[in-house]
Amino acid sequence: MGILRTKGIVIKIANSSENDKILTVLTAERGKIKVFCKGAKKAKSTLLASTEFLSYSDMILFEGNSDMYSLNSAESINVFYNIRTDIDKLMYASTIAQIMNDVCQEEELSFNRMQLLLNTLYVISETDKDLKLVYSIFRIRLLGILGFVPRLDKCVSCDKSYKEIKELYFSLKDNGIKCETCKKLDKGALNISAVTYTSLVYILSSDAKKIFSFDIPEEAINELNLLVDLYMTEKVEKEYKVGL
Ligand SMILES: [Zn+2]
Repeated sequence: MGILRTKGIVIKIANSSENDKILTVLTAERGKIKVFCKGAKKAKSTLLASTEFLSYSDMILFEGNSDMYSLNSAESINVFYNIRTDIDKLMYASTIAQIMNDVCQEEELSFNRMQLLLNTLYVISETDKDLKLVYSIFRIRLLGILGFVPRLDKCVSCDKSYKEIKELYFSLKDNGIKCETCKKLDKGALNISAVTYTSLVYILSSDAKKIFSFDIPEEAINELNLLVDLYMTEKVEKEYKVGL
């Protein structure tokens, strides 16, 4: 039986019995893993805080013969306390955790996904940034990590530079911008404002730590959010709703 020491974020919890939990944990080195936590639901358990939903902890795990690890000990690094005490923050963070659970695989290097999730949870917990904007930024960056980087420098159909296009359109099916002429053959193409265009470029090209460092008016947040809703549904073939 091997021992694994890793840092992980709890993205899902299932109760396996009265006192035990089975966690789904996202790690950088092994992707998504399942972790059995014996006695973690007991009030006196030292694992209580580190096995809570969205907790980020340093964990020592036993690797058994089954497809599950078992938790030996854990030390909390960040429990993102402010997310637990604010229903709106919790709703957004829960949807983000659900998306991560769906797009991450077991035994797959996930450094970028882990970093994105940590940075997103940090911004939700520690700042008052508009949650819809944070959620949009998270999803655009995630789609980029998953390989759906839209082409933004030229019209995807005719190669016309973005600088020469007066009215920009975004093609969901062809992953990128289109000019006024080419969008006529693409019924699903959406007209996007200059602010939305600049936001997309910024989110996809900035350093991972800086992606949340901008603000845009509410109208632009709504436009960006609608675009991401549609783009995400098109690419991952699943619709996510925040809230009940
Ligand atoms: Zn074109």
